[in-house]
Amino acid sequence: MTTKSIVCVNCGRTVEVSARAGMTKYCPKCAKAITRERCRIARQKYLERKRLEATKQRKPQKSVAQIAEEARSAGMSYGQYVAKMEGGGAS
Ligand SMILES: [Zn+2]
Repeated sequence: MTTKSIVCVNCGRTVEVSARAGMTKYCPKCAKAITRERCRIARQKYLERKRLEATKQRKPQKSVAQIAEEARSAGMSYGQYVAKMEGGGAS
């Protein structure tokens, strides 16, 4: 296996890495830690996005016609009824 010397930009150590490793700038130890950190951040972003999507999907699944009907029976306009449902803090 061909190796090359690189200076790790994270810890400053000179290490031998596989020449096939490409543009790596880190020693294997730091590379592992950085990969793990990136994974953690990517996972956090993924979970955050999922959480946001879940929040969006929690909106009422009723059809416009249903809501209009309910609004009418409550003696309100559609707009008033929707505003009440979304801003009323009802959960
Ligand atoms: Zn290092």
